[in-house]
Amino acid sequence: MSTSPTGSNRGNGRLQGKVAIVTGAASGIGAASARHLAREGARVVCTDTDEASGQAVAAQVVQAGGDAFFIAHDVVEENQWERVIQATLARYGGLHVLVNNAGIGPAGGAGPIETKSLANWRRTLSVDLDSVFLGCKHGIAAIRDTTRESGSGSIINVSSIAGLIGLPNAADYSAAKGGVRLLTKAAALECAAAGYRIRVNSVHPGYIDTPMVRGGLERRAAISGVDPAQAETALIALHPIGRLGVADEIAQTILFLASDESSFTTGAEMVVDGGYCAR
Ligand code: NAP
Repeated sequence: MSTSPTGSNRGNGRLQGKVAIVTGAASGIGAASARHLAREGARVVCTDTDEASGQAVAAQVVQAGGDAFFIAHDVVEENQWERVIQATLARYGGLHVLVNNAGIGPAGGAGPIETKSLANWRRTLSVDLDSVFLGCKHGIAAIRDTTRESGSGSIINVSSIAGLIGLPNAADYSAAKGGVRLLTKAAALECAAAGYRIRVNSVHPGYIDTPMVRGGLERRAAISGVDPAQAETALIALHPIGRLGVADEIAQTILFLASDESSFTTGAEMVVDGGYCAR
């Protein structure tokens, strides 16, 4: 955790006065984002289906001197989005930042298109793409509401390198994340054309050392009989920088996009991948 010039770990107030919702905040990139946004002064609504871990992340934020609370939230359910937005407005009076982060890897596990069930295809598309549509739909309406404390803000949609290049054995995940990329640009253009002061951008991480990636490595190792350490070495080799990323490195980009420092950035795709897509 970085420190302010005064030596405290309360950051530099880059999001002072802002209210943020972070989905998938119980783990990995979402948990790191909630901590970074709160450290910079945002009041943070942490949401997730994992209630115990989500409550724990919100409690950690509060213990560190921040302001946060948790709401159970399945991002594929539209009525739950309405409930989360209402609870946010009731508690904090407005909304400025929405981080559409919750997501899953390929439902049913990685594998070729020929073996993918339609049910698993639909599940991946639902959690990884429908969710972002619902977030944008309800988030834009809340952020642009000038009768509230906000009226302007930033939406950050967590895509993937799989939204820029095709990942074999993950066609469903690639399709969903590619959809997030262009949904983001369409939303950014709509907001600009309507005169809403809302920026919308996507973030495209390479492989980040989170429970999602650890689980995938273990499953891959179990299926192929490869040692998990060997599977990790092979994954690292895909990143010219020579390692996997850590969640804080994605959270820093999300923080930048959430703050007014990125005030001229909209419809953009921020690639944070250790050089994965550079060759
Ligand atoms: P993670 O550690 O598994 O965290 C994702 C969180 O989202 C989990 O707490 C998960 O709960 C929750 N979640 C899953 N389905 C949900 C639903 N329907 N409604 C609400 N919450 C739900 O994963 P992560 O690595 O931090 O990934 C975060 C985002 O980054 C995802 O969109 C992912 O696709 C994207 N991403 C990750 C990487 C990477 O290498 N890690 C790379 C590129 C993009 P459960 O644990 O209970 O499922």
